[in-house]
Amino acid sequence: MTSKADYYEVLGVSKDADGKAIKSAYRQLAMKYHPDRNQGDDSAEAKFKEAAEAYEVLGDAKKRAQYDRFGHKAFSGGGGGGGGDGFSSMEDIFSAFGDIFGGGGGGGGFGDIFGGGRSRQRGPARGRDLRVSLELTLEEIDTGVERRIEVNRNEHCGKCKGTGGKDGSKPISCVTCGGRGQVMRRQGFFSMAAPCPDCQGSGEVQKNPCGDCSGKGLKPKKTEVKIEIPAGVEDGMRLRVTDEGEAGPKGGGRGDLYVDIHEAEHNIFQRSGPDVITEVPFSFGQLTLGTKVEIPTLRGRGEMTIPKGTQTGKVFRLRGQGLPHLQGAGKGDQLVRVYVDIPMKLTDRQEVLLREFENIETEKGGEKTFFERLIEKFS
Ligand SMILES: [Zn+2]
Ligand SMILES: [Zn+2]
Repeated sequence: MTSKADYYEVLGVSKDADGKAIKSAYRQLAMKYHPDRNQGDDSAEAKFKEAAEAYEVLGDAKKRAQYDRFGHKAFSGGGGGGGGDGFSSMEDIFSAFGDIFGGGGGGGGFGDIFGGGRSRQRGPARGRDLRVSLELTLEEIDTGVERRIEVNRNEHCGKCKGTGGKDGSKPISCVTCGGRGQVMRRQGFFSMAAPCPDCQGSGEVQKNPCGDCSGKGLKPKKTEVKIEIPAGVEDGMRLRVTDEGEAGPKGGGRGDLYVDIHEAEHNIFQRSGPDVITEVPFSFGQLTLGTKVEIPTLRGRGEMTIPKGTQTGKVFRLRGQGLPHLQGAGKGDQLVRVYVDIPMKLTDRQEVLLREFENIETEKGGEKTFFERLIEKFS
């Protein structure tokens, strides 16, 4: 397992830094390590990517909250195994955070510094990331689950082994861009780099393309992917399964597979973080006299004692009957909210007894009317 650096340390900010401080710290690092200023320096590029990955999380309130709670585990897939940076290319970073560099309103800002940086990457690009969503039941979330899903993704063409060339034909350097993969375009004051239109940024063209994949080197294929979902995930979380995205063009590496977690509605339990909530109906008599009952829990049945004189709406807590915490030991609780279930039909005898009961209640109240007793209760 690779151990990842703490995102706060990467950006050099404290855990309670506000959004503005985080953005400013990222901007400074991004400028310092920007590829245009560090030509050919791999460690600078690594730092640049690391900072972007940290900012992707800490710069987003929701992702930051998940990170604060679960650490790196919140974003990496169950079985995926470590490594891999969050962005498949520099291009991704610019498209994700272009706005931080001052592009937004059109005011100059840092645009000039970053304008040239785009598709400078060397070697074949990684494949695209894929995204799937999974609906899980509370029971599955409780135990964690392994799912097999079918994805239709680009794989390297078997005939040409991903090269796109027929019978081992090698690509030749693109004439239009001189093999650089990009062309310069003047845009007013600045000169901007754009991907080459003839080779789509790869710097190479295939003169004798493979017939099976039309020279793309990739063919779509239905593939079954095994995904391990850890226990305790929550609706809206996104897991990353490293290297299960599409294969890259020209023999490039794989993208990642992102899994969006959705929680199916449960007919008994409602979820609140690691706790589950159940609303349980009781008769007036049970709550008044007290009782011992069995109620459903996530894992079967649990016994519960209702004390004498329990009011409707009262919430009881069954310790440890909730969901496991995603990280760390222990489980949440089950909260049982009791309420009175009013019978819609009574037998004659029940009605007689109930009227008698009510008469006694009224006598206990003395001469006072219902209204007067009500006001007394409120004062
Ligand atoms: Zn092929
Ligand atoms: Zn070209």
